Order: sequence, then C-alpha cells, then structure tokens
Amino acid sequence: MRDLTLSAAIRRQGRDRPQAIACIDPQRTWTFGDIDRESSRVAQGLKSLGVGPGDRVACLSKHAAPSIVLVLAACKIGAVGMPINWRLAAPEIEYVLNNGEAKFLMVDRAFQETVGRAVVPSLRHVVSTEEGAPLESFATWRARFQPQDPGHEADPQDTAVQLFSSGTTGLPKGIELTHANLTLMNELYAEDMGYDGSRSVFLNALPFFHIAGINSTLMPLIEGGMNVLVPEFDPAHVISIIGERRITHTFVVPAMMLFMLQSPAAQRGDFSTLQVIAYGGSPVAEQVLIDAQRTFGCQLVQIYGMTESAGTLTALRAEDHDPGGPRAHLLRSAGRPIRSVEMRIVDPSSGADVKEGEVGEIWVRSLHNMKGYWRNPQATAEVFPLGRDEHGGWMRTGDAGYMKEGYLYIHDRIKDMIISGGENIYPAEVENALAFHPAVAECAVIGVPDPTWGEAVKACVVLKPGASATAEEIIRFTRERLAHYKCPKSVDFYESLPRNPSGKLLKRVLREPYWKAVDRQVS
Ligand code: ATP
Ligand code: MG
Repeated sequence: MRDLTLSAAIRRQGRDRPQAIACIDPQRTWTFGDIDRESSRVAQGLKSLGVGPGDRVACLSKHAAPSIVLVLAACKIGAVGMPINWRLAAPEIEYVLNNGEAKFLMVDRAFQETVGRAVVPSLRHVVSTEEGAPLESFATWRARFQPQDPGHEADPQDTAVQLFSSGTTGLPKGIELTHANLTLMNELYAEDMGYDGSRSVFLNALPFFHIAGINSTLMPLIEGGMNVLVPEFDPAHVISIIGERRITHTFVVPAMMLFMLQSPAAQRGDFSTLQVIAYGGSPVAEQVLIDAQRTFGCQLVQIYGMTESAGTLTALRAEDHDPGGPRAHLLRSAGRPIRSVEMRIVDPSSGADVKEGEVGEIWVRSLHNMKGYWRNPQATAEVFPLGRDEHGGWMRTGDAGYMKEGYLYIHDRIKDMIISGGENIYPAEVENALAFHPAVAECAVIGVPDPTWGEAVKACVVLKPGASATAEEIIRFTRERLAHYKCPKSVDFYESLPRNPSGKLLKRVLREPYWKAVDRQVS
C-alpha cells in the first residue's frame, strides 16, 4: 500500500529501515532513522515558535538534505514546506517570502546578506544551514528539541509543499502541491524510471526549489533507496560521482546533459552501473540524444511535465529512443501520457478539441494536478476553466502541441502564439524555417503590436560568427518556405538571446519594449 502523506512515508521508512542510508551529501551521511528523527526534532522546534497547520516554512539553500528534513518537519505539524529559488534577485526573494508569509527560514551562508536586507514581518526565526555563520546553525538550533514525533496526521488533500513558478512568463506564482499530489507522483516517477529502492542508487544534482529537484529528493526517500546529493552541478564532478558511487539512476535537464557530453571527463567516465537517465524541462536536440546514448550507454527516458502537475505528464520511454531506426521520428516527441494523465488538445479560442495532428493547447486531467495558485483564485480559475472534479479537473498547461498516434509533440507556449489578422501563428514553425538559413545561429519569433493586423510577426536573430544577412534576405528566405501571413514583417539582430538560468528562452524580455510603448499610448 502506498503512503498517502509525506509524513506517513518518512515515518514508515524510519521505522522499517532506520539504519539504511537514505542520502549522502558532501557534509554527511543520513540514514532513514536520522531523517525521521531529525525532522521530528525540527517539528518540535517549529511548534515551540508557534508555527502550525497551514503556515509556510521556507528554505533558501543549495543543500537538499537539510531542506528535506525541514520540509518533512513542516509536514509533521501540518505546515507547508516552501523552498525558494536561490537564483532569484534580492527583491524577488523578498517578494516570495512575503507572498507566502513565511514563518521560519533556513538559509545558506551565501544568501544571508540578501535575506538580511529583506523586510519580512511574518518571519519568527531564521537559521543558517552551515556551522560558524553569524546566524545560529540549523543543527545547533534543532538539537535543543526532543526527537519526538508530534503525531499530526495530515489530510492527503492538505498542501505539503509550495513551489513558485519559475517566472519564464511572468511574476512567480505560489503553486500548492498536496500530500496526495506528491505521493502519487513519486510512485509514478519510480515506475517510469524503473527505480527500485532495494537495489537502485540515485544521483540528484538538481536544485531543490524546482519540481524535478523536489521529486528527485522525495522519490528515493519514499522508495527506501539511496540518494547521492550534489549541491552544485559541475559536469566533471557529476561524471566522477557516477563511477565512484555506482549510480544507477539520475534526472537531468537538457543543458546538464549537454554540459556532461561536452566535458572531457565524459571520455574517461565509468558509466557501467548507469541504467537510466531521465531528462526533461525543455526541448532537446535529436543529436544530443544520439550522443548521450553513445556516451552513457544506458536507457534514456524523456519527461514532459510542469510544477502545476507536480511533475510528469508524458514520458518518452527507453524503447522509443531509437535513432536511425524506423521510429526515429518519435525522438521529436515528448512521448505518451503516463497512466495517471488524461490529455486533450484544445483550440484555445473555442475550447473545442482539435483534430489529430492539429496544434492546440495541451489540457490535462490527473490526480496530481496542483491544488491551485496560492491566494490567487483568479489565476487558479483561469487554468481550471471547467472547475475541479473527482479526477482533479481539466488544467490548461499553457503549452501548445499536437498528438499523433498517441504521442505528444510540443510546439510552443500558448502565450507565445501570435494572432495576426485573426490567424493563429505558432512561432516554432517560423523558427524552424529560419533555422535553415545558413547565416542564422539562433532565433526567436515574437508578436509585436501592429495597427492593421493586431500583431505582426517579428524575428529576433543571432547570426553565426562572421556570417552576414540583411533583414530583407531573411524575410525573403521565409517566404519561400511558409505561408505569407506567417512570415516575419521585421527582423531584429541580437548578439545573444535572453535566457533564464535553466536555459529557457525569455520571450517576454524580447517582447517587452514593443508592448510597453503601446501600454503607454493606451493609458
Ligand atoms: P512559468 O510557469 O513561471 O512561466 P515554467 O513554465 O518554465 O515557468 P516549469 O513548471 O518549471 O516552469 O516548467 C514547465 C514548462 O517547461 C512546461 O510547461 C513546458 O513549457 C516546458 N517543458 C517541460 N518539459 C518539457 C519537454 N520535455 N519538452 C519541451 N518543453 C518542456
Ligand atoms: Mg509554466
């Protein structure tokens, strides 16, 4: 039987296998008993501060082991763990802490100064992850309390963890994930990766504030397996740990996979124990997958998912990774919906299903769809246009894509769709055409205001070093390949395109100057 809450899961592991190693990080080794006991101590400490059900307990840390101890402690008193993205700028961190009304904060020494300047009236106590910092350390603080489980039984529908959207398309929003969401998701994550707690060793080099980092910390813990935690991704270091620790499973975002393949250490790496590398988060070039199969010699599993779905929605399984084979085209897809997910492709303007092979918005229904956006009923109602039902309700993903033979092909984000003269234009199609131009290194296609057409197509282009091309040449090039209404009306040239730290293209940054001018005219 599956545990229905995170607190039940850690209590069970603490009871059944107290001496087994749960995680190893550069500071220490934690057994399941340690994690269960220390999270009970922290729960007592939080209670002594008056932290209770529904309160937010935050961490701003690169260290997943103390962070998960804090999150599980919060769960043991019905509070909510709130990991914060340490890549955010100081005002954004202040915004997120206040938005969640954080009552407690654990912070790495490196971020203490940032936090010191923030004004967060709800905070009752702040500790440091490390010893010897100006603030009291997490270890010293919690040692004052008894390792006695407060015994709170959370409801599976209670919020367990609150993450914030990465802000690729706007201000970060609090995403409430329940115990039921996360326990179900991690059972499926183990299944999709073939992770077996009794034999598998996971390597987790993902940031804890990201849904993939949360699941890659929770899943081995729930499954009773060992997890090697790497606080900071460095390709050569990760490659050496894979050999030293005899890693069997890991999850990477495409940029990590690329850096590992480019590292000279990859040539000397011992990947003999690796069974599965899962990857996902953004699109991956086919060539990278071919290189990964050759270098790592293990199975690859692609995952498409999002924070709002507590992780995985579709998976492209190992048997569908067959470059050069008759089904090589599947490498361009994101796989099939996993067994917990129902999927529709919907015309964003009419709300009706589109025909197979036609692009529309991806809608999903599953029991691991989030509870909603924290204190934002309007945004929640927008993504659940038909409300909730006993299956979780249909949730708009904001991604555009199409289905073919049961496989999902991701196209774009709906917010990036351009409506020009009433026609829907998906930038990916224009970008794919532009990519064939011999002088174009990188490009992004956006919609800019246009008095006649509502929006006009603009190409933002980075040229290859030493190459040259004029805007007219580029437009003419697309006209030979695309319907006229889809072709760029103008071209901007850039040295590089703006990306967020996980490598996602920030189209809103490209769009901003054009739309700002219009907003000013209107007001
Ligand atoms: P925000 O919602 O704040 O704009 P975000 O959507 O980038 O940020 P995440 O929830 O971390 O935040 O990322 C989920 C998104 O990442 C998906 O909606 C999709 O656009 C993209 N994505 C995830 N996996 C894949 C994949 N395998 N292939 C292509 N895109 C993917
Ligand atoms: Mg999103």
